[in-house]
Amino acid sequence: MNLSDPIADHFRITERQKTALKKIGLKTIEDLLFYLPHRHESFSERKNIIDLTEGDKTTVFGRVVEIKKNRAMRRRLYYTEATIGDFTSTVKAIWFNQPYIEKILAKGDKVALTGKITHGKSGLYLSNPTYEKVNEYEDLGEGAALLAIYSETPGISSKWLRFAIQKSLKSIGKETLQDPIPVNVLEKYHLPSIYSSLIYIHTPQRLGDAEVARKRFAFEEIFFIQLARLKEREEFKKHHSFKISVGQKEMEAFLKIFPFELTPSQKKSVGQILEDFGKDEPMSRLLEGDVGSGKTAVAVAATFAAVQSGYQVAYMAPTEILANQHFKSFINYFSQLRLTTKIGLITSSGAFKYPSKVNPTQPTPISKSQLLKWVISGEIPILIGTHSLIQKNVKFKKLAFVIIDEQHRFGTRQRAKLVKDKSSAAPHLLSMTATPIPRTLALTIYSDLDLSLLDEMPSGRQKVITQIVHPDNRASTYEFIREKIKEGRQLFVICPRINEPDATKENALYAKAVKEEAKRLEAEIFPEFEVGILHGKMTPKEKDEALEDFRKNKTHILVATSVVEVGIDIPNATMIIIEGAERFGLAQLHQLRGRVIRGTHQPYCFVFTDSHSEKTHQRLHALEHAQNGFELAEYDLELRGTGELSGTKQWGVSDIGMEALKNIKMVEAAREESQKILARDPELNKYPLIAKRLEEQEKTHFE
Ligand code: ADP
Ligand code: MG
Repeated sequence: MNLSDPIADHFRITERQKTALKKIGLKTIEDLLFYLPHRHESFSERKNIIDLTEGDKTTVFGRVVEIKKNRAMRRRLYYTEATIGDFTSTVKAIWFNQPYIEKILAKGDKVALTGKITHGKSGLYLSNPTYEKVNEYEDLGEGAALLAIYSETPGISSKWLRFAIQKSLKSIGKETLQDPIPVNVLEKYHLPSIYSSLIYIHTPQRLGDAEVARKRFAFEEIFFIQLARLKEREEFKKHHSFKISVGQKEMEAFLKIFPFELTPSQKKSVGQILEDFGKDEPMSRLLEGDVGSGKTAVAVAATFAAVQSGYQVAYMAPTEILANQHFKSFINYFSQLRLTTKIGLITSSGAFKYPSKVNPTQPTPISKSQLLKWVISGEIPILIGTHSLIQKNVKFKKLAFVIIDEQHRFGTRQRAKLVKDKSSAAPHLLSMTATPIPRTLALTIYSDLDLSLLDEMPSGRQKVITQIVHPDNRASTYEFIREKIKEGRQLFVICPRINEPDATKENALYAKAVKEEAKRLEAEIFPEFEVGILHGKMTPKEKDEALEDFRKNKTHILVATSVVEVGIDIPNATMIIIEGAERFGLAQLHQLRGRVIRGTHQPYCFVFTDSHSEKTHQRLHALEHAQNGFELAEYDLELRGTGELSGTKQWGVSDIGMEALKNIKMVEAAREESQKILARDPELNKYPLIAKRLEEQEKTHFE
């Protein structure tokens, strides 16, 4: 048996299993060996059904007496309900939103269900238990006191996986599996070798074995992410870059244009950027600051330096609304300079240029091709835009500085495109984000970036008062808001997100919720005020008008979807209602709340929810206490672990890697070791296994 052999060469598999293996991405014996169990089960925890009590976390063995799919009244929610019986009694099991369970488990099957015993209207039940079909549960041992439980698909059970993996492990043997982590590193941190780890995790004798193996795999993942990023960084630094320098007097004069004094941390960040600009290697810097901390001003100041030195600047934002807003604030600032600076805007719906020939204080729409001509000739020094910026036909004469706003919204590849393909030398890069992420995660996924922190709010800001509003208090909350609007303030109302797999349908549903809520508010609650709407189905022009009306206080209330989540800056809007808050993640709620901490009036965030789930309330209450995003992020990691911060999709970190992020020591160790290796051997000549692994990693990354 070889690692690269197809699984089918060594195991008899049915057509159904073949499809299932393909679905979970298992092709070769190697894939099989690295398909890690998500937990282990000790069968001493087993309880007879009659002995179950509320709150137990346990495994129940029995036969399926009945199983059926149900649909909850009025809600579009499916659940599967089964009755499980052993020789002592029966108990119900309920799964929400997993309709396929009914296809996997059938009446008469012997099963092991593991989960929490919950008390419902009609007695005790197992809520969303994990399940495994067992054929001979009298004799589960297979020689092990613990069983590895894998995530299953129809056709591939944990039982089958255990069998196939054990057989492969035996046949492959220790020598075939080469460990990509250097021995001295393993020894230093007491981590088991790769072969031992596989044995430990698939067939542990004690829970401690499995834990130490998980620790190894977690370390491995974090270690290789950091190695990859650090290596990228080294490569990037090899490029030549543009020297940008601006006189201190000139810069000071420019900063006077802002209607406010920069905060000390804004000044410090500008200073760090200017210092990087003076070097011969390109900057790659992350500007991290909570919502409302004033990242735009830092970007504007840095842009001034680049333009003043005769170079071009590209500024990419994730949404048209945001690109538009930046275009306007750039015009606002740069129009105050003695010499006019030309600014372009490019989005998928069109192009603009400032200044207009006819009306020099205003921008004017122009054709994209005309705009691009001026960009390539160097005549337009500042180009702002959305993803449209990374299109092939956008070329610059001397692009020296790239800014990426809300950078977590873009894929690594999109970011790379803007930096790598547009210019002969590598431009300086400033990535900006408010994503409150825990330090361990930042150290890992951003290890290729230097960090500038905006860790204070501009002076005069007041803390948001956040309230979870009980349905009974809805009316009094509206009254409170009415008084504030009369005093001149404004209100955002965010309508709930509806989970809908089809994106176009989703937009339609958002739109509907927004329109209906706006109508209701206008007719029944706030007839004396103007209500505007904003959602994804509107045209860019409509969106822009809706925002402009709100900005000018022509509309007092803006009912919107979470499109307002990122970046929108309207200081007079000091109140936000979030409907259906349970549907948002904490980070997103914090972003939304960030919309109202931009002015000097007392801001309020009213969180409405119909959920009765204790967990939801616990989560939402975290918002009441935690004022800043970092606190929240740490809390979130603590509370939900791999939950909503996760993981694979957003950060390219697997669940097991996310676990590692709870452990700052491990993350720092991985960082230290990867730095050492690269310092000693930047080309990795002495570490062929590491080099190979990084290559593979990159391939899958860009797939
Ligand atoms: P974010 O960091 O979320 O992108 P913005 O750059 O949009 O925040 O800034 C939020 C608001 O704070 C804007 O209205 C901006 O004009 C204002 N602002 C930025 N810096 C300062 C400052 N030093 N003092 C007062 N207001 C500021
Ligand atoms: Mg912003």
